[in-house]
Amino acid sequence: MQVLMKKAIIIICAIAIFVSLDAYAADAPPLDITLSKSSNVRESEAGVILVSITNHSTETLLLPKPFTPLLQPEHRLMNNIFLVTDEAGKPVRFIGRAIRMSPDAKQEYFTRIEPGQSLATVVHLDSDYEISAGGSFAVSYEQWYGGLEQYKTNDVPLKKIKSNVLHIYVNTSLINGVKMSMAISAATTDDPGKPCDAAAQLPAIKSAENVALKFAANGQDAMTKMYSFSTATESGKQVFRAKVLPTTDYTYWFGKPENDSPSFPKVPLVSDVWTQTDFIPFHIVRGTYNRLLSSPTYMCGCRSDYPPTTAAWAETPKPYLIHICDFFFSIPKFEFGSDSQVLTMLHELTHFDDKYAPYIGDFPNGYGHAAAHNLALSNRPQAVTNADNYAYFLEAINKNYK
Ligand SMILES: [Zn+2]
Repeated sequence: MQVLMKKAIIIICAIAIFVSLDAYAADAPPLDITLSKSSNVRESEAGVILVSITNHSTETLLLPKPFTPLLQPEHRLMNNIFLVTDEAGKPVRFIGRAIRMSPDAKQEYFTRIEPGQSLATVVHLDSDYEISAGGSFAVSYEQWYGGLEQYKTNDVPLKKIKSNVLHIYVNTSLINGVKMSMAISAATTDDPGKPCDAAAQLPAIKSAENVALKFAANGQDAMTKMYSFSTATESGKQVFRAKVLPTTDYTYWFGKPENDSPSFPKVPLVSDVWTQTDFIPFHIVRGTYNRLLSSPTYMCGCRSDYPPTTAAWAETPKPYLIHICDFFFSIPKFEFGSDSQVLTMLHELTHFDDKYAPYIGDFPNGYGHAAAHNLALSNRPQAVTNADNYAYFLEAINKNYK
């Protein structure tokens, strides 16, 4: 009897293992993302890492160009792709670029990785993350991807795969030396661009800037009208809570407010609450408006290693300098519902980090109208910290602009 029981258990175990292996095969990630150290210790300790991406699936997969390290115009990442944390586990500051590619031009927007193909690249983390003080860091990233259907539809969300977490040690004294020896010197990494042509380029840029300023001013007014408070008596004392009176546009782009403000002994100022999800939009819209009032400056022309549908880019620690690429001049100044110069400008202005507002980035699953709206429905904390949600909110409240 006991023997029979044992046999039965062994058979059940065997089935369980077989089923779980089968399930594993079905769920096996289609992409493998591996971060590794450079075998050259000098490079490794200067913050140089290797990235390898392999497509294990039987289908061609598409990776959004601004959100993969495979493309690095001027040897710089196109966006804040990596999570780099210090010894205390705190993310280090991103000091890199935010490159605006048109999400509408889908053929250009993605890079392909074929079944069985492996692609590899080298990343100089010190160019884009503040690791120059040295020490130990943990590095990882999530690679977003989709299938060929991405060329045709906005309705299928992108998926993501996590890389391994790579632990590196950075030796400050090596950073500069390795850069020089790898011929990625300041001359090639920091192309200052050219001044914009006073006759052919600046008038168009200034005209778009004026419209962007009008849009942001209207945004600021709209936020002021939405800010309110409620009052109640708690333990015999009167208390006040900040409240959003949302418009349809607010809810569409930032989601339905929770209206869960903490209580205050007097009417709270918007600055008392604007780190809360409901009120982050008040802060960022104000920041965008003030940055436009702070005379943005422009450089024109982008090197040939930028994808051709790059409209503009900005570098977070360099307020309010916007680099304008040729593609910018081929899109309309403003056309409701499509990519435009005004949206490009509003989008880029959210990427700075200054006294007016904190830096916000781009979520790869929130790029373009459909994806950004989807974030508002599915993930409010991301929607209120995603550049496109602001560009589209400001577009929406100015939809009647001619
Ligand atoms: Zn951006």
